[in-house]
Amino acid sequence: MKQFKTESKRILDLMINSIYTNKEIFLRELISNASDAIDKLKFISLTDTSVDSDFKITITRDEAARTLTIEDNGIGMTAAELEKNLGTIAESGTLAFKKENAEKNENELIGQFGVGFYSAFMVADKIEVYSRAYGADKAFKWTSAGVEGYTVEETEKEGLGTKVVLTLKADTDDFKYSDFLKEYRISSLVKQYSDYIRYPITMKVTRSERKEGSPDDKPEYEQVEKTETLNSMVPVWKKPKKDVTEQNLNEFYKNEFHDYTDPLKSVYAKIEGSVTYDTLLFFPSRAPFDYYSKDYKKGLKLYCNGVMIMEKCEELLPDYFGFVRGIVDSADLSLNISREILQQDRQVKAIANSIEKKISSELKKMMDEERETYEKLFAEFGLAIKFGVYAGFGMNKDKLKDFLMFYSSKKEKLVSLKEYVDGMLEGQDAIYYASGESYEKIAALPQIEKAKEKGYEILFFKDGVDEFVAKILMDYDGKKFKSVSEADFSIDSDAEKEQLKEKSESLKDLLAEIKNDLGDKVKEVRLTSNLKTYPVCLISGGDISIEMEKVFNSMPNSDGKVKADKILEISAEHKILNTLKTLFETDKEKLKKYALVLYEQARLLEGLALDDAGEFVSALSDII
Ligand code: ADP
Repeated sequence: MKQFKTESKRILDLMINSIYTNKEIFLRELISNASDAIDKLKFISLTDTSVDSDFKITITRDEAARTLTIEDNGIGMTAAELEKNLGTIAESGTLAFKKENAEKNENELIGQFGVGFYSAFMVADKIEVYSRAYGADKAFKWTSAGVEGYTVEETEKEGLGTKVVLTLKADTDDFKYSDFLKEYRISSLVKQYSDYIRYPITMKVTRSERKEGSPDDKPEYEQVEKTETLNSMVPVWKKPKKDVTEQNLNEFYKNEFHDYTDPLKSVYAKIEGSVTYDTLLFFPSRAPFDYYSKDYKKGLKLYCNGVMIMEKCEELLPDYFGFVRGIVDSADLSLNISREILQQDRQVKAIANSIEKKISSELKKMMDEERETYEKLFAEFGLAIKFGVYAGFGMNKDKLKDFLMFYSSKKEKLVSLKEYVDGMLEGQDAIYYASGESYEKIAALPQIEKAKEKGYEILFFKDGVDEFVAKILMDYDGKKFKSVSEADFSIDSDAEKEQLKEKSESLKDLLAEIKNDLGDKVKEVRLTSNLKTYPVCLISGGDISIEMEKVFNSMPNSDGKVKADKILEISAEHKILNTLKTLFETDKEKLKKYALVLYEQARLLEGLALDDAGEFVSALSDII
């Protein structure tokens, strides 16, 4: 007996003891695996004529033995594949499982992972998988009765493909597993979840039929066993648009992309033009667990006249729309298109362009007409769009800038850049932003107070990439981006400016002394009239802002050496200034300690770690 990998075991355990309300989805999962396997063999059959191309999926019920069997004549699995595919959950899945799921509840977990084959353990206490792979001369059988492990052994099997035999669990007070052995139940589940599957799903059914030769006025009936195809087999995108409901699309999406949640939006389009194709596009309601990792593979499923030729055609989606899932079916493609020629294929390029335009227009429409949906989408995938703006030195920024949203201090929700600019104050010439780790921290920044008091709207930059986005955009509608720490909100008149200058002049020596005390921790120490209640703040004096310093230093491989030039600003109105003045005249040692404490305080307000905790604590306790 072989052991499941530890993490697979945990997921398995979860399935076995599942109280997941939607147990019936196991059937959809097994059927869609069967259909995928047939897709693969069908593709091969285009060039290998020896393959039996009478493709089908067969369901067999055996009430006496309590077994439900799902069989396909697809590509099958070798012994090694049985072991690899059924003995472990995909590597990336286990990784995510380890990291974040200790406290997640079961429904969320099942929802998040799309546990495919393993979902059969929700209804079965024993599973046998017989399989013969294309090109293999032997068949193998994988058996498992749960977490204890599984076995793989040689077996006899006619023909290519896979047969999954489930021995259903015993009925309990809460759940009647034997329902899954009933003809009507299976028929209706197939109709509900798998109707569009392009291969016949057949099952033996009993029908009541008129006895041959029985008289018209006194017809007699008999029970006849027949094999029936349960699904309509028409792919959703081959149906007339008017016959396709949103629910059909959602069902198709969940089936095809192994997601357990409805997409935020489904789009069904038939495009005619320089290239002609049908497409179904889906905006998922949440990012897959590996979305922001290098494991994630974008792409649309590519069909040529109903035959799947590629699982994930990445050429069809730009990176920044990589979250979109869907299918493209075009008769204009060549059936034996390979990965190599795909990249240069004119048709594929034309479809990709057209798809990008379609996605853009759908997003625009969503923003205008279904704002809440767009906000949900942006919460999940906004980062991808931001990276898209930034990537390639901003080559796509103009296409994407109107999809950006940032949190507004004034409206207290996400706003677009256009909305910001439309709401600018009389005479305001810049788009103001403030950066920090979280909205709360940004709202507490000293520099914000004055700006808010003056009625300015401030965009909160919470993601590391935000400032880079602003730098690469440079401006929106002619309005430059400006950090609140660089802006001067307090000074309305030249007289005020003059006053600050005079005060700075008169305190020149004090400021120089503090700069001296702090050494190269700061580039400059100066007075400001930007602050309201806080005594000090730290701003950057160069191209690299403090927030960017944080981002750079948190990148993998960073040596932590990127430093923003920092300016310590002291409030010209704060009473601390008097204390500092007195100390300057009476106790320079103590002034140094004050300088240190104020500097470290300013770092904390910026969300930076203390420069030197030991030095800070000792200076602080000396003062107290
Ligand atoms: P998923 O289908 O999401 O990849 P599953 O756990 O359902 O995850 O299946 C794991 C893998 O096992 C599949 O990717 C496929 O390679 C293989 N597999 C499952 N069922 C079949 C089948 N009926 N025929 C061939 N291969 C299969």
